[in-house]
Amino acid sequence: MTSLLLTGIGSLVTNDPTYGSVDGAALGEIRDAAIVIEGSRFAWVGARRDAPAADGSVDVGGRAVIPGFVDSHSHLVFAGDRAQEFAARMTGTPYSAGGIRTTVAATREASDDQLTANVARLVTEMRRQGTTTVEIKSGYGLTTLDESRALAIASSYTDDTTYLGAHVVPAEFADDPAGYVDLVTGPMLAAAAPHAKWVDVFVERGAFDADQARAILRAGAEKGLGLRVHANQLGEGPGVQLACELGAAAADHCTHLSDADVDALAASGVVAGLLPAVEFSTRSPYPDARRLIDAGVTVALATDCNPGSGYSSSMPLCIALAVREMRMTPAEALWSATAGGALSLRRDDVGRIKPGARADLAVLDAPSYLHLAYRPGVPLVTHTFVAGRQA
Ligand SMILES: [Zn+2]
Repeated sequence: MTSLLLTGIGSLVTNDPTYGSVDGAALGEIRDAAIVIEGSRFAWVGARRDAPAADGSVDVGGRAVIPGFVDSHSHLVFAGDRAQEFAARMTGTPYSAGGIRTTVAATREASDDQLTANVARLVTEMRRQGTTTVEIKSGYGLTTLDESRALAIASSYTDDTTYLGAHVVPAEFADDPAGYVDLVTGPMLAAAAPHAKWVDVFVERGAFDADQARAILRAGAEKGLGLRVHANQLGEGPGVQLACELGAAAADHCTHLSDADVDALAASGVVAGLLPAVEFSTRSPYPDARRLIDAGVTVALATDCNPGSGYSSSMPLCIALAVREMRMTPAEALWSATAGGALSLRRDDVGRIKPGARADLAVLDAPSYLHLAYRPGVPLVTHTFVAGRQA
């Protein structure tokens, strides 16, 4: 196995609490640092002066190195374009869950090759912006065949695939939502489960209520899938409480929360996934990350990249929004975009730079991670490594 020494790192964020905290987050920052990658894993991390020899060596010239971003929520398997819907929103039309059906129609018509090419394009876009792990959901097929093919395509790009047959009730079941839940918990689940690690439900007015969601999540759990919930996006509702009741890994969105919701998240350990690119693109109030963090809730930041409510693949944008609009410190935002995402996906092999972890990282053309929020919109990521290889 060949080894590579990365040296001359001005600021290294490890997310290893051994190296200390800054501004409320256990970033484990090391100044003037070096790391050694052996094969697909980190083999050594520490001060540059202590670095061991390796087969090869690269000096990054004082740049910052951070763990690769862990984007714990995305919808990349789709066809079609909803730019006109975005334009209409910007002139006052409100967002509603029903717009999903537009993408469903286009996705069903697309070939496997077209869907695969679109996922590949978006994953490449993410890599360029420092994302090294991405969760990908189905949810634009909504037939047994289309959901299972979406997950099969997604599984070529990630281990974290999520069955979201319960995204919205498709038009052909408009008069029979109970029949659709039977399909989602029956034949569609059976076809999807071999390609999925997680099951998710959009709990929202216009999508699925608490009883329907509970049945779908329990059926997924019986097939061995982990649980995730789209919760409390457009208004207060039962999603967060359901996620806590069932021991889900994540309750994502969390934009409209009661005090009881915040308490339940803190007590249960369910990770609150905040997706500020959606509030940006729907011109909606942002979730209050400060309230969650101060209550002891674990927060993850993710893009929710999808063609309707928010079509950004950029974790740096999410960090900038979280700092500017959601009262997170830059350190908290970076931690939530890396270690927080890993917790949301219940993974301990990614989201940190530590011997034994997968060698995922991003090199920034900046002296520290602070520039991610300080220089919004600027493409600061110069190199991304996934499993020890430049991506
Ligand atoms: Zn989503």
